[in-house]
Amino acid sequence: MHYTGTIWRPPYEASSLLVEATAGCTHHRCKFCTLYADLPFKFRLSPLKDVEADLKEAREMRQNFSGGRTERIFLTGANPFVLKADRLKAIAELAHKYFPETKTIGCFARVTDVTLKSDEELAALGQAGYDGLTIGIETADDEALAFMDKGYLAADIVEQCARLDRAGIGYSFFYLAGISGAGRGEKGARATAAVCNQLHPKAVGANMLTIYPDSRLFEEIRQGAWQEESETEKYREIRALAQGLSIPTVFAALGASNAFQMQVRLPEDREKLLAFLDEVIENVGEDELRRYRKSVRHL
Ligand code: SF4
Repeated sequence: MHYTGTIWRPPYEASSLLVEATAGCTHHRCKFCTLYADLPFKFRLSPLKDVEADLKEAREMRQNFSGGRTERIFLTGANPFVLKADRLKAIAELAHKYFPETKTIGCFARVTDVTLKSDEELAALGQAGYDGLTIGIETADDEALAFMDKGYLAADIVEQCARLDRAGIGYSFFYLAGISGAGRGEKGARATAAVCNQLHPKAVGANMLTIYPDSRLFEEIRQGAWQEESETEKYREIRALAQGLSIPTVFAALGASNAFQMQVRLPEDREKLLAFLDEVIENVGEDELRRYRKSVRHL
């Protein structure tokens, strides 16, 4: 298999077949991000012959060893959805050639990847099986989005994800607690809830900002241009997000950046979730949460 560098996937894609369609990130500018720093290039798309060879190899492996069905394929790389619609359709055709039982194909996507496609192209991609995109919106706090160099604002999230809704392409969001900076966490969370409430994310997954010395954000902090939230503020922020979401969705915090893992359905389990977060905020001290943060050596 042509896997390049560290392969990242959402926790809920654990049983999906991971196929490399791209490596790295076309944007590669978010100040907090060090995810693809181990690659010698910014972004690369995989030759179709490599994608086909990997699908063929995976098919043979399944037949020889597990015999299991592959109903979900997840394309790896930070934003394979940036690929031209024709390229994505060609990949879907190959996926269905080697795994006819495939029901859906997902990948990470940036909001700006959707902007590049027409409504007709999005509809065709939905027909081709693309569904369950994971979009790291991080926040809908415009000040934080601009400072962190995410390359879009809250209005873009609403506009582009509404286009996915209309095209029948499902998606989940990643939210990044801590991105708004000290004293602004709950405000950022409320702004994000207001944006999510206009859309239909299948899940809102919270991660927690963990700052590494090789990030641009680390340098901003060193120069006094930005101040990190305390760990308890990050939990208050997550609480504000959970409280503000009025749409039916799954709320989760499953990645390694979270000291406490959780997954609930909203609105049914809201009170249980809020009670749990209150328990963390009131009874787990900043020192203990900070110790956990320092122990996260790599995401
Ligand atoms: S956070 Fe995502 S979009 Fe931003 S640089 Fe990292 S991988 Fe790229």
